[in-house]
Amino acid sequence: MNYESVIGLEVHAQLATQTKIFCACSAEFGADPNTHGCPVCLGLPGALPVLNRQVVERTVRIALALGCTIQPRSRFLRKNYFYPDLPKGYQISQFHSNEDVPLATGGGIQVPTKNGAKTIRLVRIHTEEDAGKSIHDEAFVAAGESLVDVNRCGVPLIEIVSEPDIASSGEAFDYLTRLRQILIYTGVSEGDMEKGHIRIDANVSIRPAGSTGLGVKAEIKNMNSFRNCQRALDAEIRRQTDTLETGGEIVQETLLYDPDRDTVRPMRSKEFSDDYRYFPDPDLVPIGVDETWIERVRSEIPELPEAKRARFQSDYGLTPDQVDVLTASREVADYYEAVTAAGASPIRTANWVQGALMRMLNRQKIQVADLNITPENLAALLNMIDAGTISGSIAQTVFADMAQSGEAPDAIVERKGLVQISAEGALDSVVDEVISENPGEVGRYRSGNKKLLGFFMGQIMKKTRGKANPGLANQRLREKLEDDAHGKIHPGN
Ligand code: ADP
Ligand code: MG
Ligand code: ZN
Repeated sequence: MNYESVIGLEVHAQLATQTKIFCACSAEFGADPNTHGCPVCLGLPGALPVLNRQVVERTVRIALALGCTIQPRSRFLRKNYFYPDLPKGYQISQFHSNEDVPLATGGGIQVPTKNGAKTIRLVRIHTEEDAGKSIHDEAFVAAGESLVDVNRCGVPLIEIVSEPDIASSGEAFDYLTRLRQILIYTGVSEGDMEKGHIRIDANVSIRPAGSTGLGVKAEIKNMNSFRNCQRALDAEIRRQTDTLETGGEIVQETLLYDPDRDTVRPMRSKEFSDDYRYFPDPDLVPIGVDETWIERVRSEIPELPEAKRARFQSDYGLTPDQVDVLTASREVADYYEAVTAAGASPIRTANWVQGALMRMLNRQKIQVADLNITPENLAALLNMIDAGTISGSIAQTVFADMAQSGEAPDAIVERKGLVQISAEGALDSVVDEVISENPGEVGRYRSGNKKLLGFFMGQIMKKTRGKANPGLANQRLREKLEDDAHGKIHPGN
């Protein structure tokens, strides 16, 4: 039988706040273990949590960006369970039930498909606190001990829950990529995967292709890479398909993905919400978000990736692939626009930002903000190519120099004597030299081996150290080579 997969994702994203969700401890990453803790986030008796306003602010911002409905009133509950990295014995979270609404509901995220954009609907976005971290360091495990770091206890998270609208592991990957991009664009999360800012639980079931009911699902927990999530889904879809095809039955369970072996293995049998004995946190008042607040936050949302992509395509005449690269981050998109605003051609700018500039950022592992090249200077460089002052390959040299020295391109061209040789007289003498120095190649060219044109151009560039105007040199070279007065017949004539 043919099966299709049904996927719903629960994504935890760390909010970009200075302090934790219910206390004034720093939410900074990478501090020495157990240096960011206080009676509140350690859950000492009598300590009282106070909600961080920025947490609500940022949750509302991403919720509005994703088209969710903001609930005017929501509250926090205690989700009770024991774990060594959870000193309080409960996690403060929100819950979705008949009586309890989370901060935001509904909304959706668009993903590209072969048949155009498709919207993956969201169930909800809720706010909660993170737990601490257990450290199973070899040295201590050998001594029968594990360690706990409480720095992460109480770091603010949102959980974004999708409807089971995702039809393949590739679509899940695209959903995650788009979601992360919007989180970063809006400044709601830094979205740094290496710091564990985004963690994914993936729910997956299969059903006979074309049917509408939902099969029993398995949940793959706590992945911190989109590629691994995609692979884990593939592995689990394979496993479920094999199980059904060999007459087995899928049981609802919680799995862990092992990227080294590319397999999933059971973590525990599924727990249900009853197990957690949720009850409203008596120390926290409900969250009230009024229209004025919502409208103020809405007015501060920057242009979102979707809108930017559409605008870049129509305003600059770029291809969808170019637009994807240029809008991948807001900083690159802004830089691109600044270069065109400074007068450079949109297409040439796109090629350079996508090519030379991105290569430089990747190679030097730097951000746009660290660039030594102002948009005005890059525009000036590109305009020098358009004006024929320098060739494209000389421009690469100048570009590298600009990145080092921060100088303007005309100063560098002047300092290094790189102005293109465009005067016919000067070019002609180089062309003549090359022709007279290579009689063998000239003969072969004239008897039909037109590919040798590249060889002659190479010689010209060598003699001029790349400064010959390529278009003009090419033209003069052809004219002289094909000049019958020098030799044999004109092949092809
Ligand atoms: P649970 O109570 O087990 O956490 P929820 O109903 O809250 O389940 O859903 C959790 C996630 O699982 C959501 O993203 C939802 O879209 C997804 N989901 C629910 N049912 C299925 C299913 N049969 N197959 C795949 N995903 C599912
Ligand atoms: Mg779940
Ligand atoms: Zn604290």
